[in-house]
Amino acid sequence: MNLNTNYSKLQDSYLFVEIARRVADYKAANPGANVIRLGIGDVTRPLGGAVVEALKNAAAEMGTVEGFRGYSPDSAGYPFLKNAIAGYYKSKLGVDLPPDTFQVNDGAKSDLGNFLDILGHNRVLVPDPVYPAYVDTNIMSGNELIYMAGNEANGFLPMPDYTLDADLIYLCSPNNPTGAVYSKAQLTDWVNYALAKKAVILFDAAYGAFITEPGLPASIFEIPGAENCAVEFGTLSKMANFAGTRCGWTAISDRLIINGESIAKLWFRRQSAKFNGVAYVIQKAAEAALSPAGLADCQTSLDYYSANAKIITGALGRLGATYYGGANSPYIWLKCPDGLSSWDYFDYLLKEKNIVGTPGAGFGVNGEGWFRITSFGSRENTEEAARRLIG
Ligand code: PLP
Repeated sequence: MNLNTNYSKLQDSYLFVEIARRVADYKAANPGANVIRLGIGDVTRPLGGAVVEALKNAAAEMGTVEGFRGYSPDSAGYPFLKNAIAGYYKSKLGVDLPPDTFQVNDGAKSDLGNFLDILGHNRVLVPDPVYPAYVDTNIMSGNELIYMAGNEANGFLPMPDYTLDADLIYLCSPNNPTGAVYSKAQLTDWVNYALAKKAVILFDAAYGAFITEPGLPASIFEIPGAENCAVEFGTLSKMANFAGTRCGWTAISDRLIINGESIAKLWFRRQSAKFNGVAYVIQKAAEAALSPAGLADCQTSLDYYSANAKIITGALGRLGATYYGGANSPYIWLKCPDGLSSWDYFDYLLKEKNIVGTPGAGFGVNGEGWFRITSFGSRENTEEAARRLIG
């Protein structure tokens, strides 16, 4: 029995383990400390009323002979949900795609990883700092990773370098961890690069709903030509607080053809062989999240996070700190003061301010000297943390 030896090349995912260890040690030594966690990347607001109602109704339906459903007829999702997603793209993003462009799944993380199943060995461009799942899944597949530096010089938005030949490009905008957002002109440059290199962009749109500034693209399909060179991963995890409910989609146009093969068809083939679809009740909940009432609930929660982000960036502004994100994103990417390393600043904030964030060094070498704070905390904790930051 042979193992996939690529797994031995993976680094331990020590970041959140190490954070938990340092916080636990500090709390053991200081039992009375009121430590505020602003490092979480998980949502904290509850599901919206329209979603809860849909979950109840779908569960009741499943308890009747007439309403019961077994395997879904199509692993890519019920037509009612694909129509709802297509309607959302059209009305909210101005992107008109046929409903069958969307293949429904249990969230973006699984699809981002599973997608590599249908691809061969490739040269893969990933930004650094980066959401670690892109790196891990490519190491598992034995792919060659080429890092593109995100830094202050490019506003943490790496741009194409035509001297580099890549087959696959990961872009995440609004970005985790930096909060930076590509403009339409910048994404157009990426689409042109991908078309020129016959490469494919894997566009992670997990945070698209956080965009409030008119004109900033929330979907790669807002860029002409993207249908021929891009795959988009969407999720309700952050937008509708579905992180524990699990529903997302992969958007692939039937115009994306590589070596004569339809990528949408290959992906459907892979999914129908290895996946039996998302639970009916969850698909009904997702449909409700994208209904007018559901989208109003989403907006209430997005506004809550965005007001938290303003409270934090307001405090950072008063301190004269350098930061990215916080607008159009739940993430604030802060330059550690006084040349401190990410982990030294982590220890300073923990011990002196009783605030926990995420050291940027955990997201790649270019994250060293930077620090991620999120707006997913409660209002009360966020306000208290802002007071401590400036106090
Ligand atoms: N992509 C990015 C950039 C993320 O930050 C996350 C979760 O934090 C995901 C994808 C995973 O999303 P999902 O919950 O849909 O698997």
